[in-house]
Amino acid sequence: MTPDLSSFLARLDQEIRARADWGKVADYIPELARIDPAQFGIAVCLADGSLHQAGDAQKRFSIQSISKVFSLACVLGRIGEQIWTRVGREPSGSRFDSILLLEQEKGRPRNPFINAGAIVTTDELLTGRSPRDALSEIIAFLSAAAGDSDIHIDKHVAASEAATGFRNIALANYLKSFGNLKHPVDHVLGTYFHQCAIEMTCVQLARVGRCIAGLPGAPQMMTPAKARRLNALMMSCGHYDASGDFAFHVGLPGKSGVGGGILLIAPGRASIAIWSPGLNGYGNSQMGSHAAERLAQHMEWSVFG
Ligand code: GLN
Repeated sequence: MTPDLSSFLARLDQEIRARADWGKVADYIPELARIDPAQFGIAVCLADGSLHQAGDAQKRFSIQSISKVFSLACVLGRIGEQIWTRVGREPSGSRFDSILLLEQEKGRPRNPFINAGAIVTTDELLTGRSPRDALSEIIAFLSAAAGDSDIHIDKHVAASEAATGFRNIALANYLKSFGNLKHPVDHVLGTYFHQCAIEMTCVQLARVGRCIAGLPGAPQMMTPAKARRLNALMMSCGHYDASGDFAFHVGLPGKSGVGGGILLIAPGRASIAIWSPGLNGYGNSQMGSHAAERLAQHMEWSVFG
């Protein structure tokens, strides 16, 4: 056990609640717009097998774009490097739902962690699978990695996004026009909206992250080489057009979602999940980003030394 870490997390929780600078919840998905922004939770799994948590670490939240890491992990496990013919590995420098570069780059999205790229990954996941089976594959991956089968999809959130997801509908049709979508647009989007609507707690998410952090005792869900690749992409592309800023302030691979979650990896040392639903102007958790910076500094976890 590391008592210092548990007491640091408790102090961080208090500090963040006193600060009350929550940001704004995502309002383009009506079901997420109803969530109280004044919430904060954090869970940390360490290499010694201990788990530390504070605040709302056991409340379920919508993982949204964090699911892009897991759909990519499933696709890498299935077809490996072939996926890179359809999607790139460069930061986009534009918003998560931008269509701008797709025209210029002939329908090959910049990376798998922006919406266009994740829609392509989901399309690949549908090869030889029904939408239901593709979603079961992601949930099975998460359940095995977390060692917890109580992980589900919030159908209301999925339906809410489907009803208002005009940008994603545009992106998918645009990809299809370039021949970079193999399956029917509605199948791909239906699957994508449901994967985004997976609900997890910080504790569950931190436990899944152990596999990407390569912590001793974590279930063997991927080779070290694949984990390295996921970490590299999370560092360079995990926070959209704020990825550079996140690397600058936190110095760790991370992936955010508009539900306010952040999965943060300190390779070989820790897996961290943070949740606070209020977002900053980039669509990343405002207090989550702050907490990530404070934790990485306190523990001296930056990969840059
Ligand atoms: N489901 C969301 C969308 O497609 C995911 C975006 C995000 O979390 N940044 O808009």
